Amino acid sequence: MENLRIVTINNNESIWDRKKKILVILAHPDDPEFFCGATLAKWVGEGHHINYCLLTRGEKGTNDHFTRTEQIREIRKREQENAAVAIGAKQVFFMDNPDGFLMATLDLRKELVKVMRKQRPDIVISCDPTNYFIHGTSINHPDHRAAGQVTLDAIFPAVQNADFYPDLLEEGYTPHHVEELWLSLPTHPNISMAVSATWEQKIAALLKHSSQIGDAQEFVKRMHERGEDVHYCEEFHRIVIRK
Ligand SMILES: [Zn+2]
Repeated sequence: MENLRIVTINNNESIWDRKKKILVILAHPDDPEFFCGATLAKWVGEGHHINYCLLTRGEKGTNDHFTRTEQIREIRKREQENAAVAIGAKQVFFMDNPDGFLMATLDLRKELVKVMRKQRPDIVISCDPTNYFIHGTSINHPDHRAAGQVTLDAIFPAVQNADFYPDLLEEGYTPHHVEELWLSLPTHPNISMAVSATWEQKIAALLKHSSQIGDAQEFVKRMHERGEDVHYCEEFHRIVIRK
């Protein structure tokens, strides 16, 4: 792919001139805050409505073999709900796919079509399924790629096409056009959100994931360094979806 031009949106700049319904579809509790928490907080501040849909409960996010799976699932669910409150998101939906084994299956595609036809978001946020290596130095989690893949597959063309899933149509889940898809962790970013104004809010939300971050003071220090490294920006590949 040729290099895309990267447009920068400043802290006080708005992308949209009317309020949007935004749905974040990602694999694990803590993905929304790690990948794009400062941007989500900025959008909440502008009055947009944000819900989360998480495809797993992140039960493998522990090195403690003595913690029972059901306990971890509960802890991570609660942490994610508290983090969503810190961002200002309205609702968090969890799907119970097994953490670590997420696949872009036809069944999951249909589930997501149902979720999107029900919630009718204008904007969907997910992550880039083509990104195998984060910053070229570490391997992207396969669940992240699968979450991005299945979200893409559901949005186009199935969500907006009545010929997909007549049974859903009969149940009242009518076709819906998603206007834009924003992929976090992009291989080829085309938009950079300057988010220094909400970087502290991102950190505050991440601190709610205490099972994941280790020593809180150390974590905050690392996140400040990270902010400087990325010039307090979060990047996306923004795609406007044709009807
Ligand atoms: Zn993750």
